[in-house]
Amino acid sequence: MNFSAFIFKQRSSIPKYIVVLSAASGGASLVAYADSKPADENPTRKKKVVVLGTGWAGTTFLRNLDSSQYDVQVISPRNYFAFTPLLPSVTCGTVEPRSIVEPIRRILEKKKGNIKFWEAECFKVDPKNKKLYCRSNIGTNLDGTGEFLVDYDYLVVAVGARSNTFNTPGVVEHCHFLKEVEDAQKIRRSVMDCFEQASLPNITDEERRRKLHFVIVGGGPTGVEFAAELHDFVSEDLSRLYPAIKDLVNISLIEAGEHILTMFDKRITEFAEQKFQRNGIDVKTGYKVVAVGPDSIKMQKKAVGEVQVPYGMAVWSTGIGTRPVISEFMKQIGQGGRRVLATDEWLRVPECEDVYAVGDCATINQRKVMEDVSAIFKVADKDNSGTLTIKEIHDVLDDICVRYPQVKLYMKSKQMSDIRALIADAQGDEKKESVELNIEEFKKALANVDSQVKFLPATAQVASQQGEYLARCFNKMKDAEEHPEGPVRIREPGRHRFRPFRYQHLGQFAPLGGEQTAAQLPGDWISIGHSSQWLWYSVYASKQVSWRTRMLVVSDWTRRFIFGRDSSCI
Ligand code: FAD
Repeated sequence: MNFSAFIFKQRSSIPKYIVVLSAASGGASLVAYADSKPADENPTRKKKVVVLGTGWAGTTFLRNLDSSQYDVQVISPRNYFAFTPLLPSVTCGTVEPRSIVEPIRRILEKKKGNIKFWEAECFKVDPKNKKLYCRSNIGTNLDGTGEFLVDYDYLVVAVGARSNTFNTPGVVEHCHFLKEVEDAQKIRRSVMDCFEQASLPNITDEERRRKLHFVIVGGGPTGVEFAAELHDFVSEDLSRLYPAIKDLVNISLIEAGEHILTMFDKRITEFAEQKFQRNGIDVKTGYKVVAVGPDSIKMQKKAVGEVQVPYGMAVWSTGIGTRPVISEFMKQIGQGGRRVLATDEWLRVPECEDVYAVGDCATINQRKVMEDVSAIFKVADKDNSGTLTIKEIHDVLDDICVRYPQVKLYMKSKQMSDIRALIADAQGDEKKESVELNIEEFKKALANVDSQVKFLPATAQVASQQGEYLARCFNKMKDAEEHPEGPVRIREPGRHRFRPFRYQHLGQFAPLGGEQTAAQLPGDWISIGHSSQWLWYSVYASKQVSWRTRMLVVSDWTRRFIFGRDSSCI
């Protein structure tokens, strides 16, 4: 759709601007009013920060932002925050959907200043003119299209990701996803429908078996947790309520790789596979799903060939893909060839001014040391001698390690205590460590450090730490202009305003059912079993965004312990 914009200035003491957008192709028009003065006419005006998304990244940003400093607007098709790690528990009624959501207006109510929320989705970003094209969820506007235009000074993109089907035929039509609260509610209803349909008279045993075959595609944490939840639901609650068909239930977990939970330590992967085998969950590794029909799933394995498996309900959980608004934005800014929107280490989208991207919709493009090695040499070579002494390297090492964290990771991986060890390692001779380095020797010393550049996982932990970091930067924006706290700039004079974002991994959990959880904590500390399940309960209770949801979640867990899960089809 091509939009053309006309701006009229209204005759009044306070200038108002009416922006009329007309869609050349469809004849639709869009009218939006902006009652603030333009930036140059009103220098005391607060800068407008627009946040897209009310998920982990967006909400954490908002909760930590000093909103009295900015004019804040939030745009999201969802008027609530959802605690996604508990979504698998919602699929089987262990936790109720409303217990894991917090209305965004309740969160904003506690903030200073007047924060506006629009329940709408942004369908186009125009970074040149700093404008966002949005469409209301409810679809009400003067002309009924529900479209409106928002301008910004700073944009925080936190729209998350969508489920990735890898264009597998039939997935969208026949599979459930597990990404949103609505998805979890649909799965819960669908599980119960399968049980009720399988209990009906006049159906064959074969049909009953098909209805009670639950297939989960994807052996990552979400697929594994859902399989475990479903198994618990069936064995603890449904087998009592449906004694006649309980033995016909089959849960299959299909994974294209050789193992499930590959992002966890090997010990956890092995334990999970063995536990699922003991529980009767059929883990099919090495199988690639190639098509999904209404009643059967077609998959391939090299050694076996193609197989067709009948199923009653399928959940697709194979990873995430880019949302259309982000793909379109990436094309505009010259990132069209990439899979995910790239930011720099300060979470800025490099190709456009004042646009930041956080959470699952973006990935940090860590600058390589070897791209800057000559510039680093120049900065370190203070006396312009053409060689670096150990002292000169030492003087810039802290800044280098902040700017390029891979240097420290490399030294740690090689158990090197300091820069002397790194240089000695490159020179292959301990005695040469006191010798001055020329540029070639310096390059050789740093040649392998970039192997330690790591991409961050798409998790709530990363998204919320990024939201918190960015809010801190926004809060100190003015101060940091005068007192920069970041490392020395390598290719330009001066220092960076802020330290780059640094992720701190706090560990990860894999609930495996039967009140057992695998926990992988920092320092390669592994714990599997009932004690980790209690750790999981306490961490997830403490991470709730409000006391209200904390109370609701804990009371749901208690209710489940006492009365079991509710199996009503509502
Ligand atoms: P989201 O939380 O997905 O939020 C995106 C927001 O953007 C939403 O409010 C959405 O409505 C809004 N939005 C979408 N499109 C638009 C648009 N066009 N315009 C405006 N707004 C838009 N991570 C962990 O660390 N631990 C776990 O145990 C864990 N368990 C998980 C279990 C499940 C079932 C799932 C699905 C995920 C889990 N994750 C977990 C991953 C975690 O949920 C994500 O990494 C996290 O939600 C990413 O946060 P985000 O803010 O980037 O995106």
